[in-house]
Amino acid sequence: MAGVANLDNRTKVRTPITETKNSTLKPMQPETTSFEDFKLNKQLLNAIADADYVQPSPIQVKAIPPILAGQDIFGIAQTGTGKTAAFLLPILMKVKYAQGNHPRVLILAPTRELAMQIDQHVALLAKYTDLRHTAVYGGTGMKVQIEAIAKGIDILTATPGRLMDIYLSENLVLKAIQTLVLDEADRMMDMGFMPQIRRLLEVLPRKRQNLLFSATMPAKVIKLSEEFLEHATHIEVTPQATPVETVTQVLYKVPNLRTKINLLVNLLATDQIEKVIVFTKTKHTAENIYKFIDRKLTKSVKVIHANKGQNTRINSMDEFKNNEIRILVATDVAARGIDVSKVSHVINFDVPNLYDDYVHRIGRTGRAKNLGTAITFCTQAEDYHIAKIEKLIQMTIPVSPLPTDLEILPTPKEEEIEMLREIDRQKRKENPKFLGAFHESKQQIKAKEIKNQKYQARKPKKGRMIA
Ligand code: AMP
Repeated sequence: MAGVANLDNRTKVRTPITETKNSTLKPMQPETTSFEDFKLNKQLLNAIADADYVQPSPIQVKAIPPILAGQDIFGIAQTGTGKTAAFLLPILMKVKYAQGNHPRVLILAPTRELAMQIDQHVALLAKYTDLRHTAVYGGTGMKVQIEAIAKGIDILTATPGRLMDIYLSENLVLKAIQTLVLDEADRMMDMGFMPQIRRLLEVLPRKRQNLLFSATMPAKVIKLSEEFLEHATHIEVTPQATPVETVTQVLYKVPNLRTKINLLVNLLATDQIEKVIVFTKTKHTAENIYKFIDRKLTKSVKVIHANKGQNTRINSMDEFKNNEIRILVATDVAARGIDVSKVSHVINFDVPNLYDDYVHRIGRTGRAKNLGTAITFCTQAEDYHIAKIEKLIQMTIPVSPLPTDLEILPTPKEEEIEMLREIDRQKRKENPKFLGAFHESKQQIKAKEIKNQKYQARKPKKGRMIA
């Protein structure tokens, strides 16, 4: 089928990463650096061996020694680079074994999915230690989380809102915190967590180690790092916002929504798309696409977005992870922190207008040990955002011709008008003086009104005539 041909013909925009025996995470200095070189303890080395990590990834090579040495870190690294283990391994090495009742390590993450995932990573790497850990996040009852904390805890992973709620309910003591990690700081700021983080910084012990990780480096993150870190070691594993090297990107220019749906159907029908996340900007679109696929194509699909209850989201994620379903439809917020191996494709049903989200979306595929493809559907009204994304990622996303067997439907009048309006809005953003097709007619009306008023003013008034 033509869809397959297009995917086969896709352009590789990045060189594939170096393959090691058990991992495709590119080792930094293969011949010199091994996990043994970090002088980690036996418990950690055994857990690393169980996890099948053969060699440290570049972020691990760069971050583990300074973190072990007690330095603050400002790390720019995308998901899929091994950054979680990069901060967890030295942290675990330092906290070593269970001690006292109050957490000594606090890891903040923007979403519950990421918080859960980090805690699972702690479980994986701390399995031969007696360290106690848990994750707390919103969308589910506080009671069980408070009980877990009350039992005594060494490493706490949390979303900022829930952490503050538990702290303010006086069920959490933060005075033993020695290490604070802010993961995905850029996202945390985008999601408006700064007030909670600032309040938190006021109540944490001043003497502590701070580790800040971010996928991108906008000015606001740099400002945060200046306020929050002391003599930080700056670590960057890829240029700012460069998508992970294993991802092949494809762009389809699609005239309208209905054709996007046809294209989605067309692509999902190919067996190359083994396991796919379909991203949408809004909950509404996510829900509609999910229902459409579920009704018309296959039951092998689930959807996650903010309106879905926490348990439903966890169940859907688990089904996707365990290959019980093939398609996951997701919004950006819900998809943060998803770590699912062997996602063969990411389909961006629409172009995100938070540009960092593009990097995060495509980072869902091409994760450790696998290559992946990110396909983006783009209407003429979305070209503007693609141009901005290309500037951010410093590369052009190769455009693929539409599959020859794709049914291209005409654009309904209303959609056409909405797209033209959107294009006007974008042009006005670039040039506030731009009037635009729709604005012009308003201007013409205004001009007519003014002309009319002038005419009225010149016209002798009836009353005066009588006088
Ligand atoms: P992260 O960037 O932390 O989300 O990690 C991405 C994936 O890489 C996770 O599934 C990790 O378990 C895996 N990973 C982390 N470090 C290594 C390593 N040194 N070798 C192989 N896989 C790794």
